[in-house]
Amino acid sequence: MSTLPLRPGLEGEEPYGAPELDVPVRLNVNENPYAPSPGVVESIARAAAGAATRLNRYPDRDFPALRRALADYLAAESGVRPDWEGVWAANGSNEVMLHVLQAFGGPGRACLSFTPTYSMYPEYARDTLTDYVTGPRRADFTLDAGAVAAAIERVRPAVILLASPNNPTGTALPLDDVRTVLEAARGNGPAGADGAATDAVVVIDEAYAEFRRPGVPSALELLAESDAAGPRHPHLAVARTMSKAFGMAGLRLGYLTAGRELVNALRVVRLPYHLSALTQAAALAALGHREELMGQVASLRTERDALVAWLRGRGLTAHESDANFVLFGPFEDRDAVFAALLERGVLIRVVGPRGYLRVSIGTPDEMEAFRSALVDILKETRA
Ligand code: PMP
Repeated sequence: MSTLPLRPGLEGEEPYGAPELDVPVRLNVNENPYAPSPGVVESIARAAAGAATRLNRYPDRDFPALRRALADYLAAESGVRPDWEGVWAANGSNEVMLHVLQAFGGPGRACLSFTPTYSMYPEYARDTLTDYVTGPRRADFTLDAGAVAAAIERVRPAVILLASPNNPTGTALPLDDVRTVLEAARGNGPAGADGAATDAVVVIDEAYAEFRRPGVPSALELLAESDAAGPRHPHLAVARTMSKAFGMAGLRLGYLTAGRELVNALRVVRLPYHLSALTQAAALAALGHREELMGQVASLRTERDALVAWLRGRGLTAHESDANFVLFGPFEDRDAVFAALLERGVLIRVVGPRGYLRVSIGTPDEMEAFRSALVDILKETRA
Protein backbone atom coordinates (compact mmCIF):
# COMPACT_ATOMS: atom_id res chain seq x y z
CA MET A 1 0.00 0.00 0.00
CA SER A 2 1.47 3.35 -1.03
CA THR A 3 1.48 6.22 1.40
CA LEU A 4 2.29 8.81 -1.26
CA PRO A 5 -0.18 11.69 -1.38
CA LEU A 6 -1.16 11.11 -5.03
CA ARG A 7 -3.40 13.86 -6.26
CA PRO A 8 -7.08 12.80 -6.39
CA GLY A 9 -7.91 11.99 -10.00
CA LEU A 10 -4.54 10.36 -10.73
CA GLU A 11 -5.36 7.04 -9.06
CA GLY A 12 -4.74 4.18 -11.47
CA GLU A 13 -3.68 6.52 -14.31
CA GLU A 14 -1.00 5.20 -16.70
CA PRO A 15 1.59 7.33 -18.51
CA TYR A 16 0.30 8.19 -21.99
CA GLY A 17 1.92 6.77 -25.09
CA ALA A 18 1.83 4.19 -27.87
CA PRO A 19 4.00 1.08 -27.43
CA GLU A 20 7.62 1.82 -28.46
CA LEU A 21 8.59 -1.41 -30.21
CA ASP A 22 11.65 -2.04 -32.33
CA VAL A 23 10.09 -3.50 -35.48
CA PRO A 24 11.04 -3.10 -39.16
CA VAL A 25 7.95 -1.08 -40.18
CA ARG A 26 6.79 1.57 -37.71
CA LEU A 27 3.54 3.18 -38.79
CA ASN A 28 2.05 3.96 -35.38
CA VAL A 29 2.73 7.55 -34.30
CA ASN A 30 2.32 9.58 -37.51
CA GLU A 31 5.99 10.43 -37.89
CA ASN A 32 7.57 11.40 -41.18
CA PRO A 33 9.39 8.24 -42.35
CA TYR A 34 12.18 10.18 -44.08
CA ALA A 35 15.27 10.85 -41.94
CA PRO A 36 17.04 14.22 -42.37
CA SER A 37 19.64 14.30 -45.14
CA PRO A 38 23.40 14.54 -44.38
CA GLY A 39 23.23 18.26 -45.29
CA VAL A 40 20.49 18.93 -42.74
CA VAL A 41 22.29 16.82 -40.11
CA GLU A 42 25.47 18.84 -40.74
CA SER A 43 23.66 22.20 -40.30
CA ILE A 44 21.99 21.07 -37.10
CA ALA A 45 25.29 19.71 -35.73
CA ARG A 46 27.03 22.99 -36.51
CA ALA A 47 24.26 25.03 -34.87
CA ALA A 48 24.28 22.75 -31.80
CA ALA A 49 28.08 23.11 -31.53
CA GLY A 50 27.73 26.91 -31.60
CA ALA A 51 25.06 26.80 -28.90
CA ALA A 52 27.17 24.39 -26.84
CA THR A 53 29.90 27.02 -26.42
CA ARG A 54 27.39 29.13 -24.46
CA LEU A 55 25.71 26.39 -22.41
CA ASN A 56 26.95 27.89 -19.13
CA ARG A 57 24.29 30.57 -19.75
CA TYR A 58 20.53 30.12 -19.68
CA PRO A 59 18.89 30.25 -23.10
CA ASP A 60 16.90 33.16 -24.47
CA ARG A 61 13.58 33.12 -22.59
CA ASP A 62 11.61 34.77 -25.35
CA PHE A 63 13.55 33.38 -28.35
CA PRO A 64 12.59 36.12 -30.87
CA ALA A 65 14.91 34.72 -33.58
CA LEU A 66 13.11 31.38 -33.59
CA ARG A 67 9.67 33.03 -33.41
CA ARG A 68 10.58 35.20 -36.41
CA ALA A 69 11.78 32.14 -38.35
CA LEU A 70 8.53 30.29 -37.53
CA ALA A 71 6.53 33.32 -38.71
CA ASP A 72 8.53 33.25 -41.98
CA TYR A 73 7.81 29.55 -42.37
CA LEU A 74 4.07 30.06 -41.83
CA ALA A 75 4.07 32.91 -44.35
CA ALA A 76 5.70 30.67 -46.96
CA GLU A 77 3.46 27.69 -46.19
CA SER A 78 0.09 29.41 -45.92
CA GLY A 79 0.45 32.89 -47.41
CA VAL A 80 -0.46 34.45 -44.05
CA ARG A 81 2.35 36.24 -42.21
CA PRO A 82 1.88 36.39 -38.44
CA ASP A 83 3.48 39.07 -36.33
CA TRP A 84 6.41 37.33 -34.53
CA GLU A 85 5.05 38.42 -31.15
CA GLY A 86 1.93 36.42 -31.98
CA VAL A 87 4.01 33.23 -32.32
CA TRP A 88 4.77 31.00 -29.35
CA ALA A 89 6.76 27.76 -29.15
CA ALA A 90 7.45 24.96 -26.69
CA ASN A 91 8.62 21.35 -26.51
CA GLY A 92 6.07 19.96 -28.97
CA SER A 93 2.60 21.30 -29.66
CA ASN A 94 1.55 19.17 -26.69
CA GLU A 95 3.36 21.61 -24.41
CA VAL A 96 2.04 24.60 -26.32
CA MET A 97 -1.53 23.42 -25.75
CA LEU A 98 -0.76 22.64 -22.12
CA HIS A 99 0.31 26.30 -21.80
CA VAL A 100 -3.10 27.30 -23.21
CA LEU A 101 -4.89 25.20 -20.57
CA GLN A 102 -2.57 26.52 -17.83
CA ALA A 103 -3.36 30.09 -18.81
CA PHE A 104 -7.09 29.80 -19.48
CA GLY A 105 -8.34 26.58 -17.83
CA GLY A 106 -8.25 25.64 -14.18
CA PRO A 107 -10.64 24.57 -11.40
CA GLY A 108 -14.27 25.40 -12.15
CA ARG A 109 -13.49 25.84 -15.83
CA ALA A 110 -14.10 23.56 -18.80
CA CYS A 111 -12.33 22.49 -21.95
CA LEU A 112 -14.63 21.36 -24.78
CA SER A 113 -13.80 18.98 -27.63
CA PHE A 114 -15.56 16.62 -30.02
CA THR A 115 -14.80 12.91 -30.17
CA PRO A 116 -13.26 10.81 -31.56
CA THR A 117 -10.27 13.11 -31.35
CA TYR A 118 -6.69 13.36 -30.09
CA SER A 119 -6.33 11.37 -26.90
CA MET A 120 -3.99 13.84 -25.18
CA TYR A 121 -6.69 16.53 -24.88
CA PRO A 122 -8.23 15.00 -21.73
CA GLU A 123 -4.73 14.83 -20.24
CA TYR A 124 -4.07 18.56 -20.70
CA ALA A 125 -7.40 19.12 -18.92
CA ARG A 126 -6.69 16.63 -16.11
CA ASP A 127 -3.23 18.10 -15.50
CA THR A 128 -4.59 21.63 -15.17
CA LEU A 129 -7.63 20.61 -13.05
CA THR A 130 -9.91 21.69 -15.89
CA ASP A 131 -13.14 19.77 -16.62
CA TYR A 132 -13.01 17.95 -19.95
CA VAL A 133 -16.37 17.98 -21.72
CA THR A 134 -16.97 16.27 -25.05
CA GLY A 135 -19.65 16.29 -27.69
CA PRO A 136 -20.01 13.86 -30.59
CA ARG A 137 -18.97 14.18 -34.24
CA ARG A 138 -21.26 13.08 -37.06
CA ALA A 139 -20.98 9.47 -38.32
CA ASP A 140 -18.53 10.63 -41.02
CA PHE A 141 -16.49 12.44 -38.31
CA THR A 142 -17.27 15.93 -39.60
CA LEU A 143 -18.40 18.51 -37.04
CA ASP A 144 -21.97 19.73 -36.88
CA ALA A 145 -21.14 23.43 -36.37
CA GLY A 146 -24.66 24.18 -35.11
CA ALA A 147 -24.37 21.48 -32.45
CA VAL A 148 -20.91 22.76 -31.52
CA ALA A 149 -22.31 26.27 -31.09
CA ALA A 150 -25.13 24.92 -28.88
CA ALA A 151 -22.59 22.99 -26.76
CA ILE A 152 -20.50 26.15 -26.33
CA GLU A 153 -23.52 28.09 -25.11
CA ARG A 154 -24.37 25.32 -22.67
CA VAL A 155 -20.87 24.54 -21.33
CA ARG A 156 -19.35 28.05 -21.49
CA PRO A 157 -15.88 26.52 -21.89
CA ALA A 158 -12.67 28.44 -21.31
CA VAL A 159 -10.97 26.53 -24.15
CA ILE A 160 -12.29 24.68 -27.21
CA LEU A 161 -9.83 22.23 -28.78
CA LEU A 162 -10.50 21.25 -32.40
CA ALA A 163 -7.96 19.26 -34.39
CA SER A 164 -7.98 19.96 -38.13
CA PRO A 165 -7.11 17.57 -39.71
CA ASN A 166 -8.47 15.55 -36.82
CA ASN A 167 -6.55 12.66 -35.27
CA PRO A 168 -7.41 9.75 -35.64
CA THR A 169 -9.95 10.40 -38.41
CA GLY A 170 -8.03 12.68 -40.82
CA THR A 171 -11.03 15.04 -41.12
CA ALA A 172 -10.33 18.73 -41.87
CA LEU A 173 -12.63 21.52 -40.71
CA PRO A 174 -14.12 23.88 -43.32
CA LEU A 175 -13.41 27.55 -42.54
CA ASP A 176 -17.13 28.34 -42.41
CA ASP A 177 -17.45 25.91 -39.50
CA VAL A 178 -14.49 27.51 -37.73
CA ARG A 179 -16.17 30.89 -38.20
CA THR A 180 -19.40 29.55 -36.67
CA VAL A 181 -17.43 28.23 -33.69
CA LEU A 182 -15.56 31.54 -33.27
CA GLU A 183 -18.85 33.46 -33.29
CA ALA A 184 -20.42 31.07 -30.76
CA ALA A 185 -17.32 31.39 -28.55
CA ARG A 186 -17.72 35.18 -28.39
CA GLY A 187 -19.10 36.13 -24.98
CA ASN A 188 -19.64 32.46 -24.10
CA GLY A 189 -16.44 31.81 -22.15
CA PRO A 190 -16.50 31.58 -18.33
CA ALA A 191 -17.03 34.75 -16.32
CA GLY A 192 -13.79 36.74 -16.00
CA ALA A 193 -12.22 37.96 -12.74
CA ASP A 194 -14.48 41.03 -12.80
CA GLY A 195 -17.55 38.88 -13.49
CA ALA A 196 -17.76 40.15 -17.06
CA ALA A 197 -18.33 37.84 -20.05
CA THR A 198 -15.25 36.47 -21.82
CA ASP A 199 -14.68 34.90 -25.22
CA ALA A 200 -13.79 31.19 -25.09
CA VAL A 201 -10.35 30.50 -26.57
CA VAL A 202 -10.64 28.42 -29.76
CA VAL A 203 -7.55 26.34 -30.56
CA ILE A 204 -7.42 24.86 -34.05
CA ASP A 205 -4.80 22.14 -33.73
CA GLU A 206 -3.22 21.93 -37.18
CA ALA A 207 -0.48 19.42 -36.32
CA TYR A 208 -1.07 17.75 -39.71
CA ALA A 209 -2.02 20.83 -41.76
CA GLU A 210 0.80 20.55 -44.29
CA PHE A 211 -0.66 17.25 -45.52
CA ARG A 212 -4.04 18.78 -46.39
CA ARG A 213 -5.34 18.28 -49.91
CA PRO A 214 -5.25 21.14 -52.41
CA GLY A 215 -8.08 23.60 -51.79
CA VAL A 216 -8.41 22.70 -48.09
CA PRO A 217 -7.74 25.95 -46.19
CA SER A 218 -5.84 26.61 -42.96
CA ALA A 219 -7.40 28.49 -40.05
CA LEU A 220 -4.38 30.82 -40.32
CA GLU A 221 -6.43 32.66 -42.93
CA LEU A 222 -8.88 33.67 -40.18
CA LEU A 223 -6.10 35.01 -37.97
CA ALA A 224 -5.30 37.52 -40.68
CA GLU A 225 -8.83 39.02 -40.67
CA SER A 226 -9.12 42.43 -39.05
CA ASP A 227 -11.41 45.44 -38.99
CA ALA A 228 -11.15 49.00 -37.68
CA ALA A 229 -11.18 47.69 -34.08
CA GLY A 230 -8.20 45.35 -34.71
CA PRO A 231 -7.91 41.58 -35.29
CA ARG A 232 -11.38 40.04 -35.71
CA HIS A 233 -10.61 36.85 -33.75
CA PRO A 234 -8.36 37.62 -30.76
CA HIS A 235 -9.65 34.39 -29.15
CA LEU A 236 -8.34 32.17 -31.99
CA ALA A 237 -5.05 30.22 -31.77
CA VAL A 238 -3.68 27.92 -34.48
CA ALA A 239 -1.25 25.25 -33.24
CA ARG A 240 1.36 23.64 -35.51
CA THR A 241 4.35 21.36 -35.03
CA MET A 242 7.68 20.44 -36.56
CA SER A 243 6.99 16.78 -35.59
CA LYS A 244 4.97 15.68 -38.61
CA ALA A 245 5.37 17.06 -42.14
CA PHE A 246 8.60 18.78 -41.12
CA GLY A 247 10.15 15.46 -40.13
CA MET A 248 11.55 16.63 -36.78
CA ALA A 249 9.56 14.64 -34.18
CA GLY A 250 12.74 14.02 -32.19
CA LEU A 251 13.45 17.74 -31.90
CA ARG A 252 10.31 18.45 -29.82
CA LEU A 253 9.32 21.78 -31.28
CA GLY A 254 5.68 22.78 -31.50
CA TYR A 255 4.29 26.27 -31.89
CA LEU A 256 1.17 28.32 -32.01
CA THR A 257 0.13 31.58 -33.57
CA ALA A 258 -2.52 33.90 -32.18
CA GLY A 259 -2.95 37.52 -31.18
CA ARG A 260 -0.27 39.11 -29.03
CA GLU A 261 -2.55 39.29 -25.96
CA LEU A 262 -3.18 35.55 -26.03
CA VAL A 263 0.52 34.78 -26.48
CA ASN A 264 1.43 37.11 -23.61
CA ALA A 265 -0.86 35.05 -21.34
CA LEU A 266 1.08 31.91 -22.32
CA ARG A 267 4.35 33.65 -21.46
CA VAL A 268 3.06 34.07 -17.89
CA VAL A 269 2.59 30.34 -17.28
CA ARG A 270 5.62 28.87 -19.08
CA LEU A 271 8.54 27.74 -16.97
CA PRO A 272 11.51 30.07 -17.30
CA TYR A 273 13.88 28.86 -20.05
CA HIS A 274 11.53 26.06 -21.11
CA LEU A 275 13.04 25.87 -24.59
CA SER A 276 16.66 24.76 -24.37
CA ALA A 277 19.41 26.58 -26.26
CA LEU A 278 20.09 23.35 -28.18
CA THR A 279 16.43 23.05 -29.23
CA GLN A 280 16.34 26.69 -30.32
CA ALA A 281 19.55 26.34 -32.34
CA ALA A 282 18.53 23.05 -33.97
CA ALA A 283 15.04 24.31 -34.83
CA LEU A 284 16.47 27.47 -36.43
CA ALA A 285 18.93 25.38 -38.45
CA ALA A 286 16.18 22.97 -39.57
CA LEU A 287 13.89 25.84 -40.61
CA GLY A 288 16.67 27.00 -42.92
CA HIS A 289 16.14 23.75 -44.88
CA ARG A 290 12.38 23.88 -45.06
CA GLU A 291 12.11 23.14 -48.75
CA GLU A 292 14.19 20.01 -48.50
CA LEU A 293 12.55 18.84 -45.27
CA MET A 294 9.09 19.33 -46.75
CA GLY A 295 10.14 17.75 -50.05
CA GLN A 296 8.51 14.41 -49.25
CA VAL A 297 5.11 15.81 -48.31
CA ALA A 298 3.75 15.50 -51.86
CA SER A 299 4.75 11.86 -52.14
CA LEU A 300 3.33 11.08 -48.68
CA ARG A 301 0.03 12.63 -49.80
CA THR A 302 0.06 10.49 -52.96
CA GLU A 303 0.76 7.34 -50.90
CA ARG A 304 -2.10 8.26 -48.56
CA ASP A 305 -4.64 8.73 -51.33
CA ALA A 306 -3.49 5.51 -53.00
CA LEU A 307 -3.86 3.66 -49.69
CA VAL A 308 -7.44 4.91 -49.17
CA ALA A 309 -8.35 3.66 -52.67
CA TRP A 310 -6.56 0.35 -52.09
CA LEU A 311 -8.29 -0.31 -48.75
CA ARG A 312 -11.67 0.46 -50.30
CA GLY A 313 -10.81 -1.91 -53.13
CA ARG A 314 -10.45 -4.62 -50.45
CA GLY A 315 -14.00 -3.97 -49.27
CA LEU A 316 -12.92 -2.03 -46.18
CA THR A 317 -14.05 1.41 -45.04
CA ALA A 318 -11.21 3.93 -45.24
CA HIS A 319 -11.89 7.52 -44.31
CA GLU A 320 -10.88 10.45 -46.50
CA SER A 321 -7.78 11.93 -44.89
CA ASP A 322 -6.08 15.32 -44.99
CA ALA A 323 -3.32 14.02 -42.70
CA ASN A 324 -0.49 11.48 -42.92
CA PHE A 325 -2.56 8.56 -41.63
CA VAL A 326 -5.68 6.66 -42.55
CA LEU A 327 -8.39 5.24 -40.28
CA PHE A 328 -9.70 1.97 -41.64
CA GLY A 329 -11.89 -0.99 -40.68
CA PRO A 330 -14.19 -2.22 -39.41
CA PHE A 331 -12.81 -5.45 -37.97
CA GLU A 332 -14.69 -7.74 -35.66
CA ASP A 333 -11.49 -8.11 -33.63
CA ARG A 334 -9.21 -5.17 -34.32
CA ASP A 335 -6.75 -6.25 -31.63
CA ALA A 336 -6.25 -9.53 -33.49
CA VAL A 337 -5.55 -7.66 -36.78
CA PHE A 338 -3.12 -5.35 -34.95
CA ALA A 339 -1.33 -8.37 -33.43
CA ALA A 340 -1.20 -10.24 -36.75
CA LEU A 341 0.37 -7.18 -38.44
CA LEU A 342 2.88 -6.88 -35.61
CA GLU A 343 3.79 -10.54 -36.03
CA ARG A 344 4.65 -9.66 -39.63
CA GLY A 345 6.84 -6.75 -38.50
CA VAL A 346 4.32 -3.95 -39.07
CA LEU A 347 3.37 -1.73 -36.12
CA ILE A 348 0.20 0.36 -36.43
CA ARG A 349 -2.18 1.82 -33.82
CA VAL A 350 -5.32 0.64 -32.12
CA VAL A 351 -7.15 3.94 -31.67
CA GLY A 352 -10.48 5.55 -32.51
CA PRO A 353 -13.94 4.06 -32.88
CA ARG A 354 -14.51 0.39 -32.06
CA GLY A 355 -13.40 -1.93 -34.86
CA TYR A 356 -11.08 0.61 -36.48
CA LEU A 357 -7.30 0.90 -36.77
CA ARG A 358 -5.04 3.77 -37.77
CA VAL A 359 -2.01 3.43 -40.01
CA SER A 360 0.54 6.21 -40.57
CA ILE A 361 1.86 6.79 -44.09
CA GLY A 362 5.42 5.54 -44.55
CA THR A 363 7.77 5.13 -47.49
CA PRO A 364 6.51 3.24 -50.57
CA ASP A 365 8.39 0.12 -49.35
CA GLU A 366 6.83 0.36 -45.90
CA MET A 367 3.36 0.76 -47.41
CA GLU A 368 3.96 -2.26 -49.59
CA ALA A 369 4.95 -4.26 -46.49
CA PHE A 370 1.76 -3.10 -44.77
CA ARG A 371 -0.44 -3.98 -47.76
CA SER A 372 1.00 -7.43 -48.29
CA ALA A 373 0.76 -8.25 -44.56
CA LEU A 374 -2.87 -7.09 -44.52
CA VAL A 375 -3.74 -9.11 -47.64
CA ASP A 376 -2.36 -12.17 -45.87
CA ILE A 377 -4.36 -11.49 -42.74
CA LEU A 378 -7.59 -10.77 -44.62
CA LYS A 379 -7.20 -14.06 -46.50
CA GLU A 380 -6.85 -15.92 -43.21
CA THR A 381 -9.74 -14.22 -41.47
CA ARG A 382 -12.05 -14.53 -44.48
CA ALA A 383 -11.05 -18.12 -45.29
N1 PMP B 1 -1.99 17.36 -32.05
C1 PMP B 1 -2.34 16.23 -32.67
C2 PMP B 1 -3.67 16.16 -33.31
C3 PMP B 1 -1.44 15.15 -32.71
O1 PMP B 1 -1.81 14.01 -33.30
C4 PMP B 1 -0.17 15.28 -32.09
C5 PMP B 1 0.86 14.16 -32.11
N2 PMP B 1 0.43 12.90 -32.10
C6 PMP B 1 0.12 16.47 -31.44
C7 PMP B 1 -0.80 17.50 -31.45
C8 PMP B 1 1.39 16.68 -30.65
O2 PMP B 1 2.51 16.64 -31.39
P1 PMP B 1 3.89 17.25 -30.87
O3 PMP B 1 3.81 17.41 -29.39
O4 PMP B 1 4.90 16.27 -31.30
O5 PMP B 1 4.00 18.58 -31.56
